[in-house]
Amino acid sequence: MGDVRTVTPVTLDRDFFRRWMAAAAAAVEREADRLTELDSAIGDADHGANLRRGFAAVAEVLDKEPPATPGAVLVLAGRQLISTVGGASGPLYGTLLRRAGKALGDAAEVTPAALAEALRAGVAAVAQLGGAKAGDKTMLDALEPAVEALGAAPPGEAFAAAARAAEEGALGTVPMQARKGRASYLGERSIGHQDPGAASSALLIAALREAEAAR
Ligand code: ADP
Ligand code: MG
Repeated sequence: MGDVRTVTPVTLDRDFFRRWMAAAAAAVEREADRLTELDSAIGDADHGANLRRGFAAVAEVLDKEPPATPGAVLVLAGRQLISTVGGASGPLYGTLLRRAGKALGDAAEVTPAALAEALRAGVAAVAQLGGAKAGDKTMLDALEPAVEALGAAPPGEAFAAAARAAEEGALGTVPMQARKGRASYLGERSIGHQDPGAASSALLIAALREAEAAR
């Protein structure tokens, strides 16, 4: 039998990053109701609508004015999220993508290792902006393990490993008590629910695999 694993390309070009954002937009659209349900339990029931609006705007601007490089795709996507999402998640996701895009510089193609490094910088910027750390029941509980896995997994398995780590991280927020964001107002009553931002982060990371598979 042949090896049926997806082979991670040696380099990722601008179109890979456009596919990533398009896949993220589709996943958010598909899962918007679930994200809003999660946010209705421990927040204000707008997370699905926030991200649906934000990523639809990202997909639109990337279609209309496709940037020339991977870094520019992420910077534009991040800027778009910041300007279209009213909730806390807009500036946080916007910072993630903008910071990662800046870290990629103006290279026409980047390696998966460079992407892992760039996302690590983006996640650090999210932590700095929001003042949260692992265990606070936020998107960081999915993003941090995802970027760790992305950097550590062997080539060819990195995106799958990252998606798994993000999903496990998101599920791991269920027993946590929220210490940042709106959910923290609930104190102990935030325990027993999955964090909506961690759930959407798992979608964003899983979309990397779709961008890869669609090559
Ligand atoms: P809002 O809380 O303003 O309604 P959203 O519902 O769109 O915004 O997003 C809520 C999500 O944002 C939370 O589930 C959490 O993952 C994330 N979040 C909120 N505050 C922070 C923070 N300080 N640091 C990291 N993530 C945060
Ligand atoms: Mg909300």
